[in-house]
Amino acid sequence: MSRENVYFINLHSESGCSLEDKFRWLLNEAGIADLVCKGELIGIKVHVGERGNLAYVNHNYARLAVGEITRAGGKPFLTDTNTLYGGGRHNAVDHHASAVMHGYFEATTGAPFFAADGLRGLDFEELPVQGRHVTGARIAAGICQADKIVMLSHFKGHCEMGFGGTIKNMGMGCASVPGKLELHSGTKPVQDHNRCVGCGQCLMNCPEHAIVMAEHKAVIDYAMCIGCGQCVAACNYGAMQVKWAEHGERLIEKVAEYAAALYGQFSGKALYVNFALEISPDCDCWDYNDRPFVPDIGILASRSPAALDRATMDLVKKANPRAGEENPFDALRPGQKCEYLFEYCRTLGMNDEYELVEVG
Ligand code: SF4
Ligand code: SF4
Repeated sequence: MSRENVYFINLHSESGCSLEDKFRWLLNEAGIADLVCKGELIGIKVHVGERGNLAYVNHNYARLAVGEITRAGGKPFLTDTNTLYGGGRHNAVDHHASAVMHGYFEATTGAPFFAADGLRGLDFEELPVQGRHVTGARIAAGICQADKIVMLSHFKGHCEMGFGGTIKNMGMGCASVPGKLELHSGTKPVQDHNRCVGCGQCLMNCPEHAIVMAEHKAVIDYAMCIGCGQCVAACNYGAMQVKWAEHGERLIEKVAEYAAALYGQFSGKALYVNFALEISPDCDCWDYNDRPFVPDIGILASRSPAALDRATMDLVKKANPRAGEENPFDALRPGQKCEYLFEYCRTLGMNDEYELVEVG
């Protein structure tokens, strides 16, 4: 297998060589100008951070990416997908408010922000993939329909996957709400009848007509339900709930399969960036961020997502202040094996061999 170039900037800066300058150099070394054609719609996939979390990627990096894409003739937009659970990003209205709160809006970045999977997370396209679990990944339509994508990912821990970088941002971060249901749950939604107010939104959104009203409460006919998750997204009252069922290897495999579907769709049409900064134990979906467990490292970019995550992981291991620990992410959560994601990605054709190229 050939080695993929992964470009890297460290965090040293001085007058005439600021981090802003270095980030622009990084994007250009990694080929952003070659990626973008005049007039193309370029989706910049970000994670605006849950309210209360401050470890997410600073919006100024998105502003710089917007500038380079615009200079190359593209039309950038910032985007993310709605969450399966409640909180500040569960629908496009709340998500937009959270994005503004964290600096991701047009006046600060130069590009508009919108939720890629629509008002309630239900707008998706099925991208084909030959996976062990998935044959059609339900990826947000606003991402599928972009001409090219630039993915800005925060590299940090994750309670179920061990770590989260670009592959997790592709696989889980680009999935629509029904896609996230498929990733997280092997089963169908469960109901909390006490919360149901009988509004009927779920009935109107169920593609299988699997929901009926009984005594002013929605009731799922599980023989007809296909587990698409539309009712979970449609219910404003938390009465349709996800049965969080997927952990360990099976979740990792599904996320990798979703990422592989996107990788296939955007072959030669994507640039991936990892921010090895504020490397906190948990992901940016939580409403807090614990202190980093390794020092800040730098920023990396590549056209290969698996090579990028591998190179970032290797730098994190080197920076790990706790001698004797093979992988600090595994050490955070004993029993977790971060290596498995790379192994499984290889079976899906995502190469993680790399050549590190230091920029600046
Ligand atoms: S959308 Fe929610 S509250 Fe409304 S009927 Fe369905 S389950 Fe009940
Ligand atoms: S998961 Fe999909 S098919 Fe099942 S009840 Fe909800 S909307 Fe209908």
